[in-house]
Amino acid sequence: MHVIVHGGAGSPPASPATRQATLTDAAEQAAKAERPMEAVLAALRPLESDPAFNAGVGGAVQSDGEVRTDAGMMTHDGQTGAACAMSGVVHAADVARTVAAETPHVLLAGDEAVAFAAGSGVETDRDLTTAETRQRYERANPPDGGPADHLDWVRAHFSGTDTVGAVATDGDRLAAATSTAGRWFALAGRVGDVPQIGAGFYADDRGGASATGEGEPIARFGLARHAVEQLDTYGPRQAAEEAIADFEDATGGRAGVIVLDRAGHTGAERNTAAMQTARR
Ligand code: ASP
Repeated sequence: MHVIVHGGAGSPPASPATRQATLTDAAEQAAKAERPMEAVLAALRPLESDPAFNAGVGGAVQSDGEVRTDAGMMTHDGQTGAACAMSGVVHAADVARTVAAETPHVLLAGDEAVAFAAGSGVETDRDLTTAETRQRYERANPPDGGPADHLDWVRAHFSGTDTVGAVATDGDRLAAATSTAGRWFALAGRVGDVPQIGAGFYADDRGGASATGEGEPIARFGLARHAVEQLDTYGPRQAAEEAIADFEDATGGRAGVIVLDRAGHTGAERNTAAMQTARR
């Protein structure tokens, strides 16, 4: 199994070595899986449980004090599932997989997605905050101005976008998945790029991609699909570079993307200060 995992794009993390070790372990666990779909979920579960990343426990808190998780996953042959705006769900990527495997739909949202998760045996009702994120939320002082002021303030105070993602292939089948708690102090119920097909995740018979960064420009641009489309012309490394260059030209946003082709070649690029990846 070939695997590439990312731990989000943003400013350099406080403990890069510890996070790198966690990402490397996640890639190693994933490489033991039998199928790419299981591999990407095996990679994401420990990261969703680790407060060092912006997914599951310790994820971004929305403006009403609630953490809501989103995820999406897709395979080379078009199996697709996503789930968003879920309170109390750590393993959002597992819910996305169950949507793909057990429903005729591609995206479930909100309380109904949580009920679906519970009915499918995915753990719910977890407190996704930590002492640190509760303190961060309580001490923050968002401005009263309009949406533009608010976004500038979020950018200045919460520059980390530590969403997690993975792409895996066994040389034939391929899967991509991305999981997040979104952005700090977003409007309650805001859903970003991560569970939107072609934005935060995408796969087809050329390869797969997972994106991270500022969700609104990523969603407008369709970053993950654009990165996979570059595989028509380039190898994964250059595909990732071209995708980020085109994204920056088109939107001025900040993001990172990982790309894997079906032969197992990897690429990663960002226009943020940092993005940690691990490969197996
Ligand atoms: N892309 C995510 C979002 O906007 C944030 C991140 O990458 O951490 O929801």
